[in-house]
Parts: sequence; C-alpha cells; structure tokens
Amino acid sequence: MSGVAEAVFFYDPLFEQHETGFGHPERPERLPVTLNALSESGVLDSAEARQPRDATVEEIELVHTAKYIELVRRVADSGGGNLDMDTALSGASYRAALRAAGALLDSVDGCLGGDFKRSFCLVRPPGHHALPGRGMGFCLFNNIAIGARYAMSKKKLKRVMIVDWDAHHGNGTQEIFYDDPAVLYVSLHQYPHYPGTGWLDETGRGKGKGYTINFPFPAGTGEEHYTQAFERVVIPAGRRFAPELLMLSAGYDSHDGDLLCSMRLTDSSYRKLTDYLVGLADACCEGMLIATLEGGYNLEAEARSVVQTVAGMAGADVPFKDDPPRPSAYPDRAGEVIEETARQWTESA
Ligand SMILES: [Zn+2]
Repeated sequence: MSGVAEAVFFYDPLFEQHETGFGHPERPERLPVTLNALSESGVLDSAEARQPRDATVEEIELVHTAKYIELVRRVADSGGGNLDMDTALSGASYRAALRAAGALLDSVDGCLGGDFKRSFCLVRPPGHHALPGRGMGFCLFNNIAIGARYAMSKKKLKRVMIVDWDAHHGNGTQEIFYDDPAVLYVSLHQYPHYPGTGWLDETGRGKGKGYTINFPFPAGTGEEHYTQAFERVVIPAGRRFAPELLMLSAGYDSHDGDLLCSMRLTDSSYRKLTDYLVGLADACCEGMLIATLEGGYNLEAEARSVVQTVAGMAGADVPFKDDPPRPSAYPDRAGEVIEETARQWTESA
C-alpha cells in the first residue's frame, strides 16, 4: 500500500457565513445537512475531512477580471448586497468565495502532488454560472474554472476535462473555455431552463471547436438517458481526449426531488455516474478526480446524493435510502438529444 489517500473532502464553516437572505434556495443549511449525512453514513472513515486555504486575488484573476473581483470585495465589505436579482452577498461572502476557490486549488495540489487521488469540495458559494466579469445564478467566482486554469498554468497540465451534471447549464464554465482546446467541457442539463444557454449547436469556437459538448435534455429526463449519454459520448469523448485531470461540477438539482428543477435522477443514479467517472479517471489520469458542489435545493436529497458521490470516489458502499429510478418523462426527445450530440461528437474527430 502506498501513502496516497483514496479520497478526501474539503469543507470550512466559513462557507455557512455566506448568507443569501430569507427564503433563498441556495442557503447555508445545505452544508450542515450534508455534513451530517456524510458523518452518519460512515463514509468519512474512507474520506478524510480537510480545511482549505484561501485563494489569492492573483489566483482568482486566472479567470476573473480585477474590476469584478474588487466589486465583490466592496459589496461584501459594505455588509452585503445583490449582484443581480438572485445573486446575493453578505459581509462574509468575499472571504467565503476566496476559500471556496481555495478548496479547488488545494485539491489540484493534493492530487498532482500525490497526496490523495480524489477530492470532493463541499463548498459555497457555487461557481459554474460565474463569468469572467460578472457573477450570476447564485455564483460569485467560478471555482472549477479557477482550479482548471491553476492546474494548467501552475502545474503545466495540457488537458483538463470538466463534466457538469448540475441541472442548469454551466454557462460561465463554457464561456471561459469556449475557444480553448485544452479544456473539454461536457454538460448535461435541463433545457429550456435557466440560464438559457447550452443548446446542441454550442460546440466551441475557433481552436476550441469540438471541445464543448452539450446535452440539452427535456425536463423529466432520468437515469437511463444520463447513462446512455455517458456510454455513447461522455466516456468515449473522455478516452479520446485523454485528460491529465478529470473535474466534476457536482450539482444535485438534477435529483428527482429537487425544488427548482424537473429532472429524475436518484441517489443511486449519482453513484452510477460517479462510478463511470472514477473508471474514466483510472483509465486516463491515474484515478485523479476533483468534484465541487454546485446547486442542489432539496436538502435531504442533496445530502444523500453527495454521500453516494463521495462513497463512489472513496471506493466505499453505502446502502440507498430513496426510491428506485423512474423512467424519463419524454424518452423520445431525450433520445434525440443523445443521437444529435453523438453525431456531432463523432463528426468532430
Ligand atoms: Zn443548478
């Protein structure tokens, strides 16, 4: 046995001080409920908990403009406020956002440094909607994009793959890497839905053409079509791209029980999809897989599904507590999306 831990997870109580206001779905309670579930499940015996460092302003600038970073700092320092209709900050939000990004940087350092193989970042605020010059959709800094850029600039990686199974399209992540062939971005999401992007014809720009893959699934899409998408495209595309690091925007609003979205994944679906990604990471990049929390608004469903993801990453087994998967509501339309995405991906070779 080597001294390399199978999996760790990053968390800090500071993330709960990022307050979004009364009745906001992206609320601090998401984290303690999930932590409880992790601890009750026994999965923490296999995945050690760690506190992350803060990202520096220079590291946030790998993705965001200095002007926007300063705006976030100023709004937080003034006691809080809103960046747009649904993106709110409290006094601690800037510090929480620096630390959330820091969890991704520590993950990159730990994975590439041989300290551990996989990491789950249990962080708030989430990140995948954040654009270089603008926060939106509950997101301040694009944590996963900062992690990927850090891996490429500081660690000299040449290929990073980002899979995004949050029910919303990760418009920020897509935009940041849209013309970059070094990052393969694959998103499976509900469409039409917030933020309105992620259609089939969005496949990248310039040299990045073919390095963005979108599955704009109809509301009601369930496990069998996510599985088909993984088997037909996500995993083969990953093997062809051969990433040196695999990253996951892990949103749990694609769960059947979610309050904001209408997809039909269950706890066991997330375990199944995690197993696919662990297999891909084993085949391509010595098992290295870094996941970070995005959305998820049914606290119990989210907590149980994070447990299944972390269990999959740590190679542990936790019994399922929820209902078995339900079939997709519009199987023909979900199937057509997979056919079209598969056709485009095959032709981009
Ligand atoms: Zn979401």
